Amino acid sequence: MNPSDIEFDLRHIWHPYTSMTKPLPAYPVTSAAGVELVLSDGRKLIDGMSSWWAAIHGYNHPILNEAAKSQIDKMSHVMFGGITHPPAVELCKQLVAMTPDSLECVFLADSGSVAVEVALKMALQYWQARGEKRQRFLTLRHGYHGDTFGAMSVCDPDNSMHSLYNGYLPNHLFADAPQCQFDDKWQPEDINSFKRLLLQYHDEIAAVVLEPIVQGAGGMRIYHPEYLRQVRQLCDEYQILLIADEIATGFGRTGKLFACEHAQIEPDILCLGKALTGGYMTLSATLTTRHVAEIISQGEAGCFMHGPTFMGNPLACAVASASLKLLSDSPWQQRIHSIETQLKAELLPLKSHNTVADVRVLGAIGVVEMKQPVNVAELQRHFIQHGVWIRPFGRLIYLMPPYIIQPEQLSKLTNAIVGAIN
Ligand code: PMP
Repeated sequence: MNPSDIEFDLRHIWHPYTSMTKPLPAYPVTSAAGVELVLSDGRKLIDGMSSWWAAIHGYNHPILNEAAKSQIDKMSHVMFGGITHPPAVELCKQLVAMTPDSLECVFLADSGSVAVEVALKMALQYWQARGEKRQRFLTLRHGYHGDTFGAMSVCDPDNSMHSLYNGYLPNHLFADAPQCQFDDKWQPEDINSFKRLLLQYHDEIAAVVLEPIVQGAGGMRIYHPEYLRQVRQLCDEYQILLIADEIATGFGRTGKLFACEHAQIEPDILCLGKALTGGYMTLSATLTTRHVAEIISQGEAGCFMHGPTFMGNPLACAVASASLKLLSDSPWQQRIHSIETQLKAELLPLKSHNTVADVRVLGAIGVVEMKQPVNVAELQRHFIQHGVWIRPFGRLIYLMPPYIIQPEQLSKLTNAIVGAIN
């Protein structure tokens, strides 16, 4: 890319959460293959981010490329209203087969945030159809569920955007975030705040919505499976729906195919996205039970009231379908286990560093939490000089590489972090 294009970008193009007056640098990437991003000057960077949890098989994968190319020659898109097509049917068969048995009805949508909107709307319509006015959601502090209004309303009220949209967002219920970490001894009082809110407001609550086991963008926190188990139990006891947002954790990232498996629980509604297409394009899926789907369909509207233009996009479904097959044909458990072992060996020693607050690892996720917020621009320059792509935020420097990463490539990522901290 020539300098004038970079200039144009800075002046005219919004980037995620970036100022238009004091933008952070945006590095020009012109291609990517395997676990490497290629900058326009030819430098190659090992990717530690999987393009925000999505590119689990790496970039430019011949099987996914082939799926896209062969589908594009048939049709890229066709409306889903009154029409169905093989890529959607095939993908939904795979999703129904790989998720818990109780989840059998699939809604395909455009992005993770929309999958969450769909899940919230399903819960609202479910209670409406049952003749109960339940319009509040119970969720966890430090949660993150997306940037659209419904999703935003269940994100952490302090470290997200609530204050900006004060008065516009519905007033939901926020339990204290779990404190007990994944490997800690379970502390029974950890569930108290959640339990108190649920007991007090149970007849107003439509659903509990949470990220199982790993709270991602709200702080990269990894919590105890017993917390999730007890949430499920309480939801059962009070007949409240449980929505699991596995948009970030789904498809193996935490070492299980879905993070709910760590607690051996099944949600009533499951949101999937990100890695669904292997990071090729945007697509999401919200799955629910036959029971929820039937109740919604018996309600006033007689159907679920959502239907985006690009619902079930054949191109995205074809790639997603190929990506799921690729995942299930691969030794992903072994790969994630090796990544986890290596991340622990190479990052956990940072725990004793005086600028580091905590280090945590689960599956192919490695997090270094600093005591102070990091200087993103400066750190990123350091990482690029060291041939790696790592994008920190707040006090967090973290890795979630493609599953195909090789040990020496992963060491390059962890060394760059260790070097930066030292
Ligand atoms: N839920 C979770 C847990 C996420 O991590 C994200 C994205 N970071 C979303 C929802 C929103 O997904 P999208 O960005 O595709 O709208």
